[in-house]
Parts: sequence; structure tokens; C-alpha cells
Amino acid sequence: MSAGEAFVTLATTDSYCKGAIVVARSLQRHGTTRSTVVMVTPNISEQSRFALKDVFDEVITVDVMDSDDRLHLSWLGRPDLGITFTKIHCWTLTQYSKCVFLDADTLVLCNVDELFERDELSAAPDPGWPDCFNSGVFVFRPSLHTHSRLLDHALQHGSFDGGDQGLLNSVFSSWAAEDISKHLPFVYNLSGSSFYSYLPAFRQFGHNAKIVHFLGAVKPWSSSSQRDESCSHTMEQFVSLWWKEYLSSTPSSEA
Ligand code: UDP
Ligand code: MN
Repeated sequence: MSAGEAFVTLATTDSYCKGAIVVARSLQRHGTTRSTVVMVTPNISEQSRFALKDVFDEVITVDVMDSDDRLHLSWLGRPDLGITFTKIHCWTLTQYSKCVFLDADTLVLCNVDELFERDELSAAPDPGWPDCFNSGVFVFRPSLHTHSRLLDHALQHGSFDGGDQGLLNSVFSSWAAEDISKHLPFVYNLSGSSFYSYLPAFRQFGHNAKIVHFLGAVKPWSSSSQRDESCSHTMEQFVSLWWKEYLSSTPSSEA
């Protein structure tokens, strides 16, 4: 059963490859029995590709410009949706029956294989608007039909937030009210904003975090001056953990 299931992430730049490596390593550290897959674009360096091959079961090059004429056209018409189109490409991974997508800026803190007990589309609430799900962590079923629906919707309506999260929330619009089993607990997608908006809850429940999401412009791999400015002190302990994981996987790294 687990052979047909995979954790999937995405990296379109060498920086995000660093994050992707940590996603794979942190999944493996906690003994996942599922496959690990990274989708990459052709522009990433040989060095990054090599590092990814070392830790992922599958490195899939997503050449969005060639692979599908319709997608090619839609990309030309909507260059703003580039990353979104690349991310929703995960629905084409039909060699797997079920997958969990993790943003490359997430860090897994324990075994989360139980996520595969959930159905499409399961995700955690977005801290900014909890009737929307955050698209940094979600359970989905690869399907070319669903992929087409997503593309068509993007082409016709774009995305209300300009990214994949707006598109996915429009297409899976029943998420907010229909089926509570599709609401992942917040600890599966814990972002720093909870620190600012509800500090007592963070203090009470933060240690239950299962997946941390470094949402926003400043990532763990950003320069330390950028990180200092962002003053997300709470997340500091998680940023340290991220670096520990990153350095453990790249002994010769310059970082
Ligand atoms: N991503 C990427 N290259 C980019 C931007 C995004 O590969 O230039 C991928 C990556 O997997 C990332 C995800 O798309 O984690 C969503 O972007 P990001 O995490 O930066 O958005 P946020 O979670 O901060 O809203
Ligand atoms: Mn993210």
C-alpha cells in the first residue's frame, strides 16, 4: 500500500533546493515508510540536482513549457502564475495513488505518515483567514482530470491571491464547511504568525508541533541579516533545528 504513496515537494531555484533537502531528510529522520519526490525545473544547477538525488527517491524534472501545449499557452498568457502552474503539476504524478505535498520551506518534526489516512483535499487552516486552507501542506490524489480542472480554473479565473493557495481554495471551495476530517490540526502546518497573533496558545501547544512552516519572505536559508530583521524570535528554535538538519545532510556545504 505504501509503495503507491509519496511525499512531494517542489523547488524551482537553488535556494528552494536547500529547503527541499531538509524536507526529505526530516521525513527520513522520522522513519517515513513512504516515497519522497521532488519536482524541479530545468534551470536548477547540476550541483543542486545531485544533492537532491542523494536524498530523494525520485527527482522529477517538470518542464512546464514543453510538457503540455495547453499549459504552455496558459503560462504565456499568465506569467504571474508560473510557480502556481508548477506546483499543481503534482496532480500529474499518477504513478502514486495518494500524496502529501509539503512546501520546500517546511520542517518535519516527527513521523507524519498518518496523513495518508486522510483524503483529498485535506489541509490545515491558514492563520490569516482560517476559512481558507494553507497550501503549504496538503493531502491529494494525483489525477489528470483534476489537473485539467485546476488548469482550466486558473486560465479562466486566475487566482485571487496570485498564487497556488488562492486557486486551490477556489477549486476545493467546500473545504471550509463540508467535512471536518479534511481539516488537519494546525500543528501539521505551524507557522510563525501564531506567535504574534496568539502567544499564549503558542506557549501552551507549540511543543506539539509536527510540521513547521517558514511561511513568508524570510526563509531559514535567507541571509542572517534578513533573518534578524524579521524578528521572528519564536521561530528561532525551529530555524536552529532547520540548520542542524541542513548541515547534517551537507557536510561539505559552505553554509
Ligand atoms: N517555490 C519554488 N520557487 C520559488 C517560490 C516557491 O520552488 O521561487 C515553491 C517551494 O516549494 C515553496 C512553495 O513553492 O515552498 C511555496 O512558496 P513559498 O513557500 O515561498 O510561499 P509561502 O509559504 O511563504 O507563502
Ligand atoms: Mn511555504
